Amino acid sequence: MPESNPTWRERLHYFEAEQDALVRTIREFVEIESPSDNKPAADRMGRFLAERFEAFGGRPRFHPTDDFGNNLQIDFPGADPDRDKKPVLLLGHFDTVYPLGTLASMPCHETDACLHGPGVLDMKSGIALMLYAIEALQSWHSGLPRPVTVFLVSDEEVGSTSSRKITESLARESAAVLVLEPAAGTRGAVKTARKGVGDYILTVKGVAAHAGLDPGKGHSAILELARQITAVSKFNDLQRGVSVNPGVVRGGTRTNVVAAEATVEIDVRIKEAKQAVSLDRKFRALRPFDKRCKLTVEGGINRMPMERTPGVAALYKKAQLIAKQIDWKLEEAAVGGGSDGNFTAGIGIPTLDGMGGAGQGAHAVHEHIVISELPRRALLLAGMIETA
Ligand SMILES: [Zn+2]
Repeated sequence: MPESNPTWRERLHYFEAEQDALVRTIREFVEIESPSDNKPAADRMGRFLAERFEAFGGRPRFHPTDDFGNNLQIDFPGADPDRDKKPVLLLGHFDTVYPLGTLASMPCHETDACLHGPGVLDMKSGIALMLYAIEALQSWHSGLPRPVTVFLVSDEEVGSTSSRKITESLARESAAVLVLEPAAGTRGAVKTARKGVGDYILTVKGVAAHAGLDPGKGHSAILELARQITAVSKFNDLQRGVSVNPGVVRGGTRTNVVAAEATVEIDVRIKEAKQAVSLDRKFRALRPFDKRCKLTVEGGINRMPMERTPGVAALYKKAQLIAKQIDWKLEEAAVGGGSDGNFTAGIGIPTLDGMGGAGQGAHAVHEHIVISELPRRALLLAGMIETA
């Protein structure tokens, strides 16, 4: 173990020596399945994590929810309570998109210096990085240089409905937010901008009729929906970063019935907060082409964009300086996916996202992290906890 306040090189060596233990921990996390929609499974993961963080001196506390796993907050006091430094918030989620039983067909395993498994990149490696960065800081400084709040939510993959308010209120008490979502790309860039994300549901009620006996009497909800989808697809404005994707359609009952009902679920993405209003106005202005059909529009933007504010840019600058100490040219990226970082940046708290594992295939069968990237990412996180 290095002396107190080791050099950056010593810190890197410290984490290189920890690499195998870190991989074992990530593996343990991956092997406890925790889909967003399975409360008992997610709660099991939450309890396991609470114990691990408690072992390093954290004070765990659950925020109970009915529909998802209980959200887990862990507070770490700073070593010197008189120094009155604001905490830094480490934000993550322990839910995954994989249904229970996925491990059977997608086991956690190591090949070609990568660790594979459901949720390994998004974002169980990020949670393990938090744990090891905290442990390292404690051993280098005999205590944490400032208070740290860890918040691990259980419903990030399904919109964070139960955790959002808590995330925002913890962020308001913090100097900065570090989000342990996966890094962008194989070079491990941090994320300084994210698109805003939302969903719309269009439902058409038509008039049913027998397709053979009374074809003229029906007003097809499916036909109406098809025309609405064509109208909605014109909302796309890729140049300005607005995209609209009708991703799921449902409707009708049988081929010989003029359909009485049909719906489409639409994913929308925006680059700037102000685009939310104009896009919403367009959705609300949709009217049926067939006057006998009724159209309802539900939904809206769920996560506003994470914009690259001066606060975000300043955090990235700090991260770059830390990386430079070990000759790492840390890049930044703007991405299309949203995270809880959108919430914290949206209320004006400096947020740096993509601080977690580096790899590929989030939400896909080839999801993996690059093991050799772990030490420097842990070093970056520890450094940012000190300086953010
Ligand atoms: Zn994630």
